[in-house]
Amino acid sequence: MDTTDLQAKLQQISLSDQNVDPALTTETYTHKPKGSLSAAISITGLGTSTNQPNRLKLPLGKLAASNVLKGANASITKVTAVSVQDGQKERIAATTTTTSTIRISEATDRPEIPLFSPNRKWNLGQFEIGRPLGKGKFGRVYLAKEKATGFVCALKVLHKSELQIGSGVEKQVRREIEIQSNLAHPNVLRLFGHFHDTKRIFLVIEFAAHGELYKALRKVHRFPEYRAAQYIAQMASALKYLHKKHIIHRDIKPENILVGVHGEIKISDFGWSVHTPGNRRKTFCGTLDYLPPEMLKGGGDGYYNEKVDLWSLGVLAYEFLVGEAPFEDTQVMTQKRITRCDMTIPPYVSREAKDLIQRLLVLDPEKRISLEEVQKHPWIVKYCETGERAANRAANKSKSSSEDE
Ligand code: ATP
Ligand code: MG
Repeated sequence: MDTTDLQAKLQQISLSDQNVDPALTTETYTHKPKGSLSAAISITGLGTSTNQPNRLKLPLGKLAASNVLKGANASITKVTAVSVQDGQKERIAATTTTTSTIRISEATDRPEIPLFSPNRKWNLGQFEIGRPLGKGKFGRVYLAKEKATGFVCALKVLHKSELQIGSGVEKQVRREIEIQSNLAHPNVLRLFGHFHDTKRIFLVIEFAAHGELYKALRKVHRFPEYRAAQYIAQMASALKYLHKKHIIHRDIKPENILVGVHGEIKISDFGWSVHTPGNRRKTFCGTLDYLPPEMLKGGGDGYYNEKVDLWSLGVLAYEFLVGEAPFEDTQVMTQKRITRCDMTIPPYVSREAKDLIQRLLVLDPEKRISLEEVQKHPWIVKYCETGERAANRAANKSKSSSEDE
């Protein structure tokens, strides 16, 4: 398939698979594409293949079989995603209501080939494009399916022309690709690979079936404590993993967190992340409400380290429980209040949660509670027991909370 033909392809109501035996797969995506996909110049240096040492080999036969909705006329999309922790594979299945209609006949055996192996060469023809999932500053994200395997993923399409408009944006995208493609943690959104044509860059990303955490939070205004605690525990686990790899995220906020098929969170948006080989950095970036005091100061005192993510974790915990960020105000006042740690925790927040927030929102970065301590904090332990009891409890709670919604 012509890789420059994405726009025409997206306009089509029905996409047929050109590479796969129609006897194996017959499906129809319906979608309403928004806007146009424009043209432009090329960015050099972005290879057409991935070069990622930590690639996993997926059980494709099983995956393909479970990644389709068997039977005709189904109006929901059944998605099986794969979560990976340090090379371990776990198949997880979930059902999500979407605007797409996918009809798929029974899949038969498919070849066992490594799906996301290092140096794999990708092109647009290998994917069927589904409904748009969202639009970012520099591109759109579509639901997609790898034709040969039926693996469902998200495809982010960035326009090289648009990337060159904003200064430093190309660098930001490169950084996002370099950093994210080497990460494999259940609470970090996987970047499986990337490729490009003359006009666009395509990122093959893990599909987060439940979308943005920000939207979920706005819907309910604030999360119940058990839900907030479980999210903070997952964040702590992800940040511990990132910091161990000397990566500071620097842009932790609900807008940059997606939710997977099991309701697990996935940190995304590594555009502002930095590799810190033992060093402290002093670049200013991020969003005001979540900015730690040391990043606001600038100058000689403006150096900071991975402890910036701890402050943001405190802001996140506060926003989960209260429904707004602790220093939300006019821009000038927000900055002033951050530098004084001027915030009030409402009385309905539990004593344990309040304690954790106060241990994270500490002006002196070195005095903030560590991620290990966060994981052992009484508020986290209370809601994040391990073992069967915890699983049953979480299942009952999510059942009753979804009934509430
Ligand atoms: P920014 O341009 O600042 O990164 P953004 O994060 O909103 O903004 P994108 O990352 O391009 O932009 O994503 C646009 C939207 O598409 C997201 O807000 C989200 O709703 C959706 N989206 C992105 N990636 C995925 C994914 N992997 N799975 C499901 N939905 C996604
Ligand atoms: Mg994004």
